[in-house]
Amino acid sequence: MTLTDDIRSCTACPSLVATRTTVVVGSTPAGARLLVVGEAPGAQEDQTGVPFVGRSGQLLDRLLEEASLPRSRVAVLNTVKCRPPDNRVPTRVETAACRPWLTAQLAVLEPALTVTLGLSATTWFLGKVTLSSVRGRVVEVDGRRVLPTYHPAAALRGGPRGEPLRLLREDLALAVRMVG
Ligand code: SF4
Repeated sequence: MTLTDDIRSCTACPSLVATRTTVVVGSTPAGARLLVVGEAPGAQEDQTGVPFVGRSGQLLDRLLEEASLPRSRVAVLNTVKCRPPDNRVPTRVETAACRPWLTAQLAVLEPALTVTLGLSATTWFLGKVTLSSVRGRVVEVDGRRVLPTYHPAAALRGGPRGEPLRLLREDLALAVRMVG
């Protein structure tokens, strides 16, 4: 059994297992130096088994393209691999149950830089922080370089004066320069 097989057959969260269509293991192209981590799959990800394919994913793709790094060269994972019903935030128990899978994926990937999208992914790496206190700065944690930024969903919602979109674009461009 490979790590991917193990994740696909995981049944640790009964309420997510009951409602999921598929386990969204993530995409890990060979040689990817940049890793992007989000919170959990949404409806379209649950249907397709591919992370970040909905509107948030399309924005992510566009901003990566703008920064001259195609999505096909970027690893994309989530902290929780199964869709929480109604897109609720994963519980602490679910996040803890899924933690070993992302930990194992990180050990295999060894990305040069990890961009965390939104607060859930950011706290997974950094512990309890506010996004505004760490966004846009590279933090070293357990020997890994982590760059927290907004989730594309926040950018799509607009936010004050469109700042989340502007800053997400800026942070992804910085990330691409750093791994280039
Ligand atoms: S969310 Fe993670 S830990 Fe929970 S069932 Fe899915 S793969 Fe397993």
